[in-house]
Amino acid sequence: QGLPPGAQSGPASGVMNDVFSGQKAGMPNNAYPNSTAGVTQNFGNLNLQYSDPNQRSVNLLQERHLLPYEGIEPPKAKLEHDFKKVNCSPEIFRCTLSTMPQTQSLLNKCRLPLGILIHPFKDLSQLPVIQSSVIVRCKSCRTYINPFVTFVDQRRWKCNLCYRVNDLPEEFSFDPVSKTYGDPQRRPEIKSATIEFIAPSEYMLRPPQPAVYLYLLDVSFNAVETGYLQIFCQTLLDEIDRIPGDSRTQIGFITYDSSLHYYYIAEDLSQPKMFVVSDIDDVFLPSPDGLLCNLTECRDLVVDLLTNLPTMFEGNKETGSALGAALLAAHKLTSPTGGRVSVFQTVLPSVGPGALKAREDPNQRAAKNVQHMGPATDFYKKLSLDCSAQQTAVDVFFLNSQYIDIASIACISKYSGGCIQYYPGFHITRNVAQMERFENDLRRYFTRKIGFESVMRIRCTKGLSIHTFHGNFFVRSTDLLSLPNINPDTGFGMQMSIEEPLTDLSTVCFQAALLYTSSKGERRIRVHTMCLPVSNQQTEIYAGADQQAIIGLLAKMGVDRCIGSSMQDAREAMKNAAIDLLSAFSNTLPSGQRMGALNCPFSLRLMPLYISALLKYNAFRVGSSTKLDDRVFSMEMCKSQPLAQFMLTLYPSLYPVHALDDRNAVSKGDQVVAQPQLLQLSFANIDRHGAYLLDAGDHMYLYVGAAISDKFCSEVLDAPNFQSVPETMNDIPELENETSERLRVFINYLIDQRPFYAPLTVIRDDSRARMQFVQYMVEDRTESSLSYYEFLQHIQPSIK
Ligand SMILES: [Zn+2]
Repeated sequence: QGLPPGAQSGPASGVMNDVFSGQKAGMPNNAYPNSTAGVTQNFGNLNLQYSDPNQRSVNLLQERHLLPYEGIEPPKAKLEHDFKKVNCSPEIFRCTLSTMPQTQSLLNKCRLPLGILIHPFKDLSQLPVIQSSVIVRCKSCRTYINPFVTFVDQRRWKCNLCYRVNDLPEEFSFDPVSKTYGDPQRRPEIKSATIEFIAPSEYMLRPPQPAVYLYLLDVSFNAVETGYLQIFCQTLLDEIDRIPGDSRTQIGFITYDSSLHYYYIAEDLSQPKMFVVSDIDDVFLPSPDGLLCNLTECRDLVVDLLTNLPTMFEGNKETGSALGAALLAAHKLTSPTGGRVSVFQTVLPSVGPGALKAREDPNQRAAKNVQHMGPATDFYKKLSLDCSAQQTAVDVFFLNSQYIDIASIACISKYSGGCIQYYPGFHITRNVAQMERFENDLRRYFTRKIGFESVMRIRCTKGLSIHTFHGNFFVRSTDLLSLPNINPDTGFGMQMSIEEPLTDLSTVCFQAALLYTSSKGERRIRVHTMCLPVSNQQTEIYAGADQQAIIGLLAKMGVDRCIGSSMQDAREAMKNAAIDLLSAFSNTLPSGQRMGALNCPFSLRLMPLYISALLKYNAFRVGSSTKLDDRVFSMEMCKSQPLAQFMLTLYPSLYPVHALDDRNAVSKGDQVVAQPQLLQLSFANIDRHGAYLLDAGDHMYLYVGAAISDKFCSEVLDAPNFQSVPETMNDIPELENETSERLRVFINYLIDQRPFYAPLTVIRDDSRARMQFVQYMVEDRTESSLSYYEFLQHIQPSIK
């Protein structure tokens, strides 16, 4: 009895290094029995001797119900009340270990990765903004004064990162309202872990740049055929007065096929003038100015251009795409100011500088040895660094149906603080779901907040050291990230080590400072400070471990491993992460408790499940057909998506929605929103009589069981029974009854919690599209992958 296809691993290919320490670890190539899950036990019965529920252990082979009703909450740092009250929101700042190990050797013993995840420019409903002539910072390490400093007396404060005692400027204790000197603790800097300063002139190297937006639009034969231009122009027309900026805002357009087309827009013209430049090997600008125009002064001409663009290239027979030349032109055009370049690309760039070749072998999509995950050329990386130096970020929207080489093109965004979006199979009429996503995402993209000419620095308590960064930026010096643009939908990750023992410390702190120019031309500094307790107890480190943050960081590390080594190696390292944790934890237990069990700390009980999901995730799966662009895009998302959004794509939320009621419901505005139970991703939880909503982040699916009631079909889907539910439904109708309204309110509530849109597809139990839903049931076995239970059995013999 051998392993099922795709499960083979083993040390055959030589040395495998594990993620954390480079230790050798091999996998036994054994067979495993087909036994089923044992008795289900309630957590309540387990290890009652612990007062902290997170210090319990769980036998994963017995306990199959791991997900709480309402989902996983991030752990709360065990701090004294005053610090706990003001600590930074876990939606912004979180650490893989919410209790910090005192030493590197304790960290090694725990076998967990140490790092932080940050979503620094997230939209916030409340943000204290301070305009102060003096920004109080530590004289020695430049840390901003924050809620976790200590006041030696009314005039002096002790830095919580380097422990220097600093004088407090008089202004800090002066209350302009009462005109008296008072308690410094009432200052907003001391009362909030997230705060924004309006920066004085010493925080700028040049006058704040205006908002500059340049759009690069592919208008080749294929691009015109997709119809994207129509959506782009209409959405920009709709939102033109909501684009972030002021009276100085500049905007420009370049279209391209195998030539570049510039648009000269100036106040005194009756309509925009197009220049065609067909020499793409020596890119020059046909006019020194007028190619970027002032949006306020030239609004009518911009509207004119956007109105005409969709029809201007109708019938274009030119199939070439000179993306590289267009980017070189964009770099030249924006270099005096910096700004944001947005690229809309539908085909593989085929002519001029940066031209690419189709590298993907479609016969190798299920191969274990994945090829071409890295860029084919350094053209895009080099240009990205040049853009970064001039404060220009490049964002790319991929709207392709054929291989486009995201691995190469995405480099233009990776080093310039840009972002990428992907709409595979985009077509304005033939792919309604992608069309809807594109339109809604664009609306968000055009109108979301933006910061220009930005840098971010992460400081941490002495003894801790940040060594690896993940995300889209350029590292200017060891802890300074250069971000030509910062957008509110991007996340970052950092790996750390403990360089010096944190002996005698009860807490450590992290502080991220994001300096940027707002779209209104103000220099601002957003500061987030997080405080964590320190412990020398392994059980406490486990109790405070944040399983989702760990998985988020492991995914980032896995991507680096894929590119730097191989897919096999990355997969092996992920499996070893589970094996190492379970081995290390098992060693803390008395031997009697270990026999025949797979013990896991309660706080980390989902980690092996999430790792088995990672091995089936688009980015890392082998054995089942995965297009190279899909895989590479998924890898990019591992690197730059904020954790909450990433978790939704890795382990989507599954809800039964056939019997929504007001139990546990929450109020949102004047609406009552049903809160159905979260289910684990297995067909064991799917009943033929039910209907299930799967929220996978960028898509939602309503799965309708074959024995669903006629009542549900008519009330929700406007069909008399299951048989008459249409094969393709891209939305649910707005019907006036309680069942329909409850479900629609719930779906809208989920959509409102994310920046980007998720189209809904209704999938009948017998539909041809069924696999779209089935692929998310990651706990079940497939032809090429293990079930979660099989995965546990597979790793069990390696656990020492
Ligand atoms: Zn300091």
